[in-house]
Amino acid sequence: MSAEPAAVPSGDDPFEWIDEAREKRRRAGLVRTLTPRPADSPLLDLASNDYLGLARHPEVTRAAAAAAHRWGAGATGSRLVTGTTELHAGLEAELAEYCGFEAALVLSSGYAANLAAVTALTGRGSLVVSDAGNHASLIDGCRLSRARTAVVPHSDPEAVRKTLDAARAEPDHEGRAVVVSDSVFSVDGDAAPLAAYATACRAHGAALLVDDAHGLGVLGAGGRGALWDAGLAGDRDVVATMTLSKSLGSQGGAVLGPAKVIEHLVNTARTFIFDTGLAPAAAGGALAALQLLRREPERAGRARAVARTLHRRLTAAGLAAALPDAAVVSVRAPSPEQAVQWAADCRAAGLAVGCFRPPSVPDGISRLRLTARGDLTEQQMDEAVGAILSTAPTA
Ligand code: PMP
Repeated sequence: MSAEPAAVPSGDDPFEWIDEAREKRRRAGLVRTLTPRPADSPLLDLASNDYLGLARHPEVTRAAAAAAHRWGAGATGSRLVTGTTELHAGLEAELAEYCGFEAALVLSSGYAANLAAVTALTGRGSLVVSDAGNHASLIDGCRLSRARTAVVPHSDPEAVRKTLDAARAEPDHEGRAVVVSDSVFSVDGDAAPLAAYATACRAHGAALLVDDAHGLGVLGAGGRGALWDAGLAGDRDVVATMTLSKSLGSQGGAVLGPAKVIEHLVNTARTFIFDTGLAPAAAGGALAALQLLRREPERAGRARAVARTLHRRLTAAGLAAALPDAAVVSVRAPSPEQAVQWAADCRAAGLAVGCFRPPSVPDGISRLRLTARGDLTEQQMDEAVGAILSTAPTA
């Protein structure tokens, strides 16, 4: 007779530990909640990632709706089965051509694109050198890859070089190494030293993988991205990942690089193979946004100019804001509680801003995060600066 499993006393809550975790968060002032955004919100939006104001551009929304009508609300299957439409192929061709790469592959999110790129290009026995400020999706890619990951200090090419040097000297080193970095860091909006990273990579035969989520649409001629800006787009040792959900105002992600790298991803990247293809509406919207950017390349420069203006006006008034390299303006708050209160006060004054606090910011410094949208008018900039200054904590 087999032994009966131990009975769980009825009434025991298997999720009791969650109550304790929640209480700990509450005491630390770190509880997060979801607030539905009304479609006709009267708030001035400096909280989203809609850098160019294209998410509601009529050409983009019309293209998204037309794509859903023509192809269906969903992609209906994996990209390798039924989920590749002409729209997906057209978007990949346009992305690669515009950003200066040989080939591109579209996935259902930027997160999935980063997991795909890191895991497909590395593995047991290889080395990933990862900037300490990298986005969670790159970090998770490193964890999934089973590669040895060396986290190096933020934006420190010398540390990258030394790590690659040290790896070469190790007896069991199999020779494959990838240096992984965001192009523009999402919290402080600072740009990575990509040219110096590329030099370090080339001295060691390592590949450079750059997440250009915050560079596409903002940096480089016509918003072609940080790698274009650094003169690295299309190089045979460089791979870029992107999101379609920020400057392109849609949803989805992409990996861009040499054709053989993209072909390798099609055959091996699990977040590509085992995921339903990007919804046709998202592909159609992103393609329309890209075509708009090609026609109106000045949109990228405007986002950068708005960022510099916001920074100048806020620092002139005594606030501590990091000099923006792209379209993210980060303003320091004295404490997590004051950051949350400041963002709430801005909201009451008609302005939506982002709020970063631990654990999203491992350095423990809480910030307001402003999106310098390229379509802001002078009057909207006045309103935004006015709301931030009038609600600033005094401590
Ligand atoms: N990389 C970076 C740097 C990001 O900021 C984000 C989005 N927060 C992503 C990747 C993920 O992109 P997506 O939202 O398309 O999944």
